[in-house]
Amino acid sequence: MFIPTRAAGLEALAEFVPVAGPDYARDRNHDLGPSERAVSGLSPYLRHRLVTEHEVVAAVLDRHSLQAAEKFVQEVFWRTYWKGWLEQNPEVWRRYRREVDELAAGDAPAGLEAALAGQTGIEAMDAWVRELVDTGYLHNHVRMWFASIWIFTLELPWQLGADFFHRHLLDGDAASNTLSWRWVAGLQTRGKTYLASASNISRYTDGRFSPEGLATSARALDEEPLPPRTTVEPGDVDGTVGERAGLLVHEEDLEPASLLAEHPSLAGRLAAAAVSSDPAGRSPAGVSDAVAAFTSGAVADAAERTLDATGRGARVLSDAAPSTVVDWARSEGLDAIVVPLAPVGPVRERLDALRPVLASEGVALVTLRRRWDGVAWPHASRGFFPFRERIPELVRQL
Ligand SMILES: Cc1cc2nc3c(=O)[nH]c(=O)nc-3n(C[C@H](O)[C@H](O)[C@H](O)COP(=O)(O)OP(=O)(O)OC[C@H]3O[C@@H](n4cnc5c(N)ncnc54)[C@H](O)[C@@H]3O)c2cc1C
Repeated sequence: MFIPTRAAGLEALAEFVPVAGPDYARDRNHDLGPSERAVSGLSPYLRHRLVTEHEVVAAVLDRHSLQAAEKFVQEVFWRTYWKGWLEQNPEVWRRYRREVDELAAGDAPAGLEAALAGQTGIEAMDAWVRELVDTGYLHNHVRMWFASIWIFTLELPWQLGADFFHRHLLDGDAASNTLSWRWVAGLQTRGKTYLASASNISRYTDGRFSPEGLATSARALDEEPLPPRTTVEPGDVDGTVGERAGLLVHEEDLEPASLLAEHPSLAGRLAAAAVSSDPAGRSPAGVSDAVAAFTSGAVADAAERTLDATGRGARVLSDAAPSTVVDWARSEGLDAIVVPLAPVGPVRERLDALRPVLASEGVALVTLRRRWDGVAWPHASRGFFPFRERIPELVRQL
């Protein structure tokens, strides 16, 4: 269903643009099942930045007014908002990772195995598990129902549901996934939960499902208070590029052409280019074959589009281990490696571990942030609604 190339992402965007206005606003909450879709299906492309948020919003606003496409544009900005919020509250990600590790190391909670195998006896849940495993995708409304039933009906730890999503979603994303699960659980907007009901499910699945026995109340989960939020740094380039810099592209941002266009002083100076990825880092249990295949296909596609200053193509590194990156830097005689900024999540952790190893070799790690993130993220400090108010202004600016 999802071909992991930029060309396929752009084609999906072009097909979707005509219905991104009132049609989307009317139909977007309906889940028509795995073979039909009233939504864009762009998330695996956007999540890896095979296609960027900027391109998607620009293409839609080329065809529709902001008023007509308001709903769709807002949805794209939800992704930006979640990333910006997690950037300012990185402890939420670290805590989630610790809790998944602890839960995975302990005894499995009652009902977990049946839930993961799609054998809860709740027909809708079991069908969604199969759909997720088979396709690597679920409609947004289904994700909300799924998380709500997981937490409040099956009474399973939310972290293990989020981890299951992370292992199987082609668009598995630290910010959107973790924070959406927290939102359903009543942790994100403190005390406000999302309760799935049979009537809502029946209405928006056109009667395909009407599950019985769902929880009728949803008491918000609780947690230790979070530390004060950190601020988003102002500059879009972090580090100094020396004489011989190499570009290392990774799975958080696979469209280097537009990233470098925002930093023209670097564009002509890259002595070498490489790509690397490690999607298994998304979960202690690794990721499904489908996620691994989508990511490696996407990275291979990026390699074909990435050239150094002499026109040489990017090398696909065999893995993302620091020693592999160091070997590449040595073989190219690099004094700096330039990477797209990775938002809080597994790739950021990977780069944070790489930095001191490179430093000990005399190689600097320089990060480049997109203007989109630099402009929007600082506004994601509170709830989505004050952020949403700023969208027209952000669209104008960006
Ligand atoms: C429990 C739960 C877990 C989720 N996990 C992920 C995840 O791991 N990765 C991920 O990319 N999205 C996640 N989402 C958000 C959302 O469900 C998907 O982005 C969306 O379903 C993708 O389908 P689409 O591209 O057809 O969406 P469309 O409706 O066509 O939306 C267009 C784009 O807007 C963005 N978007 C839409 N809805 C949301 C949303 N609620 N939050 C953030 N961005 C949104 C996405 O980039 C999407 O591609 C999750 C939502 C929930 C409720």
